[in-house]
Amino acid sequence: MPQQPDHALIHKPASLRPDPNLADYVQTAARFNWDDAAKLLDGLPGGAGLNIAYEAVDRHLAHGRGDRIALRWLGKSGARRELSYADLAQASNRFANALHDLGVQPGEGVFLLLGRLPELYVALLGALKARCVVTPLFSAFGPEPIATRAEMGDARVLVTTPELYQRKVQGLRQRLSGLRQVIVVGEAPAGDASLHGWDALLAAASPDYTIAPTDPESVSLLHFTSGTTGKPKGAMHVHAAVLAHAVTGRYALDLHDDDVYWCTADPGWVTGTSYGVIAPLVCGVSNVVVEAEFDAQSWYRVLAEERVTVWYTAPTAIRMMMKLGAEALQGFELSALRFMASVGEPLNPEAVLWGQQAFGLPFHDNWWQTETGGIMIANYAAMDIKPGSMGKPLPGITAAIVQRDSSGLRLIDTPDTDGELALKTPWPSMMRGYLHEDERYRKCFVDGWYLTGDLARRDADGYYWFVGRADDVIKSSGHLIGPFEVESALLEHPAVAEAGVIGIPDPMAGEVVKAFVALKPGFAPDEALRSELLGHARKRLGAAVAPKQIEFRNNLPKTRSGKIMRRLLKARELGLPEGDLSTLESDEK
Ligand code: ATP
Ligand code: MG
Repeated sequence: MPQQPDHALIHKPASLRPDPNLADYVQTAARFNWDDAAKLLDGLPGGAGLNIAYEAVDRHLAHGRGDRIALRWLGKSGARRELSYADLAQASNRFANALHDLGVQPGEGVFLLLGRLPELYVALLGALKARCVVTPLFSAFGPEPIATRAEMGDARVLVTTPELYQRKVQGLRQRLSGLRQVIVVGEAPAGDASLHGWDALLAAASPDYTIAPTDPESVSLLHFTSGTTGKPKGAMHVHAAVLAHAVTGRYALDLHDDDVYWCTADPGWVTGTSYGVIAPLVCGVSNVVVEAEFDAQSWYRVLAEERVTVWYTAPTAIRMMMKLGAEALQGFELSALRFMASVGEPLNPEAVLWGQQAFGLPFHDNWWQTETGGIMIANYAAMDIKPGSMGKPLPGITAAIVQRDSSGLRLIDTPDTDGELALKTPWPSMMRGYLHEDERYRKCFVDGWYLTGDLARRDADGYYWFVGRADDVIKSSGHLIGPFEVESALLEHPAVAEAGVIGIPDPMAGEVVKAFVALKPGFAPDEALRSELLGHARKRLGAAVAPKQIEFRNNLPKTRSGKIMRRLLKARELGLPEGDLSTLESDEK
C-alpha cells in the first residue's frame, strides 16, 4: 500500500516552552505507572474516595489557588464573565445543595441541554459533587434525540434554558414520565409551576457543601458517542477517570497552571466535557469558554485578545479555516499561542503543515474515543511530528495492532502492517459499560485487550497511523483501502476543501472508490477540474487506490461533533436506509 510519510518530519526546537511536562517520552513511558500518577490528585479529604468535581475545583482552594480564574466566559452578544476557582466552588456547591433540596439522589440522571453558558459548567460540576450521573446533550438536538437519550439514561432532572424548554422539551413531558424536575436558566416563566428557575433555586441554596464519600468506581458521566457509524451508544464513565484527565491534560496538551486554554468542542461531545471542562480545571488553568459557534474571524480574535496559549480544536474547523486561507489571520497578534492540538477525525498532513504556515505552529493530532474517556495516542509538545500520524501511545497505555481470528487475537509486530488498533486493559478512564448493551460491551474485549473498531498501522519508530474505521474500509480488487489516505491525497490539491470517500459495489473489483468533494471558494465544479483531480489522485495513490468517480458537493454530511458521515454518503449513493440521523449536523434529514 502507498502512504508513508512523504512529508518531512517536523522537528521540535528544544521545545516551545522551557519546561514541557513530557520532556522525554521514552523514559517517561518506561517508568510510568498509574499508581504513582495518582499522586497528581488529592482524593476527598479524610480518604473518602475520589470525586471529579473535587479534583477539578475544590482542591485548588485547598492549595490556596482559589483566586485564579477558572472560567473565562465570552457570550454571544459580547458579554463577558469570569469565575475564579473559589466562585466556581461556591456556585457548584449551591447547585449540589439545590439537587438535594429537590430530593435528587446519588446515581440519578441529570441531563444538561444548554449552550455553552456558565450554568452548564456549574451544573455539571455541582451534579458530580452530588454524585449524580451527568449527561450533557448538544443544545441543537431536536426533540426526538433528546427524548430517546433522556429515556435511555433515565433523566430525572433536566437543566435547560426557557427557550429550549419551550421549543423542544415541553411537548415531551408526558412521554418522559421519569423526568421529575426541569430547571431553567434565569427565572422560570410565570404560570408553569413544573419549572424551577435557576436564579431563585441557587439563591436559596447554601454555598457550603461537603462532598459525601465517593466510590471512584461509581458512575459519573453517561456520554453518547457521536453516531458517525450508526445509532449512538451510551458509554458509562466513573469518577476514577479523572486521573486520566490529569495525566493527559499535562502530557498530551502540555497544560501548565499558568496557561490560558481554549477547547472549541461543545460539551455535548465527549471532548467538550473531558477536555472542555474536566482536564483543564484539574490542571488548574484558566479555561476560555466561547458561546458562539464557529466563525474564523471571531475565533482568531479570541485567540489574540484572550492571549490563548494552548488550543484544542478539530479537523473540521481546521479545514474551514484552511478554506479561507492564511491571509485571514493577518492583523491578529498570536504570540501567546504555543501549542495547538486536534482530535475527532484524521488530521490530514496538509492540515498539520497549514498550521505551520498560518500560525507558525503545527497542529498536534491526537486520537481517542468516547469509550476510552481520554486521549490515548498523541503527538506531544517535545516530540517530533510526522505529519499525518496520530502520534504515540500515552505513557501508561499499551497499544497494539492486532488481527482478530477464531482463536482470539494475533498481535502484529511487523511495522507498517494494517490491523485493528487495540488497547491493553485497564486504564482509569476506560468506559465501564454501554448503557443497556452488555453484550455489545463484552464483545469489545478479547484476551485483555479493548478493540477500538479503528484500523491503524505502527511504523518502525513507534508512530501510529490511522487507516480508517473498520466499517469504512474499502475492498477493491484485492486491495484494502482506507478512505483517509484517499481523502488526504485529494486535500493536497489546492481546489479541495473537504473530501469524503466511500466504496461502491462493482461487479469486477468488488468495490470501487468514489469521492465526494467540496471545493474552496473560487473553484468551479466542472469536468476539467474533475479530470484534474482524478489525475492528481492517480499520480499520488496509484490507479488501484485512486477514486474512479468524483462527485462535487457544496458540503458533506457531518455529525454535530463535526465528523464526516461516510455511512450516510454511502446509504444515499446506494439508496439504502439512512439509519439513525439524530446526530446529523444540519437539518438536511
Ligand atoms: P459512533 O461510535 O457512534 O459511530 P464516533 O466513533 O464518531 O461515533 P466518537 O467517540 O466521538 O464517536 O469518535 C471516536 C472516533 O473518531 C474514533 O474511533 C476514530 O474513528 C475517530 N477519531 C478520533 N480521533 C481521531 C484521530 N486523531 N484520527 C483519526 N480518527 C480519529
Ligand atoms: Mg465510535
